[in-house]
Amino acid sequence: MERWRGTVVAPADLELPLVGVPEGTDIELDLRFESVVEGVLVSGTARTTYTGECARCLEPISSPVEVGLQELFAHPGPDVGEDESLLEGDLLDLEPVLRDAVLLELPQSPVCSEDCPGLCATCGVRLAEAGPEHRHDSADPRWAGLAGLYERMTNENEDRES
Ligand SMILES: [Zn+2]
Ligand SMILES: [Zn+2]
Repeated sequence: MERWRGTVVAPADLELPLVGVPEGTDIELDLRFESVVEGVLVSGTARTTYTGECARCLEPISSPVEVGLQELFAHPGPDVGEDESLLEGDLLDLEPVLRDAVLLELPQSPVCSEDCPGLCATCGVRLAEAGPEHRHDSADPRWAGLAGLYERMTNENEDRES
């Protein structure tokens, strides 16, 4: 069994809509390579940092992430399925494996903190900064007449139906 530790850099497009690992970010790998009958079994961990924005309040966020990797790189042969990883000469192409593992681990809806209150639906201010007192007088008096009109019409319709 061989052990390999080292640092690689993130490839392009390692990202989901809201978060990703920027191209060139260090990815620390700690891998074990085991020779098995079918080929080489690779397992280990990858550590890196993702950045993005909070799904609720859009603040920038950045967080370390660690993913487990395991993949069998098979010797080319008639029994190997199309979507299996292949040994090409002595080379292992780890990038697709790393990419899949990292993308699976990234949060679909990242938040800056678990209790992030998000943005005010009316004015868009960050509620975490605006504080619990932040609110708007929802009923603008100029619209009150219209609301009354709507109510009267609804009642009239009901009267007619009955
Ligand atoms: Zn937030
Ligand atoms: Zn507001």
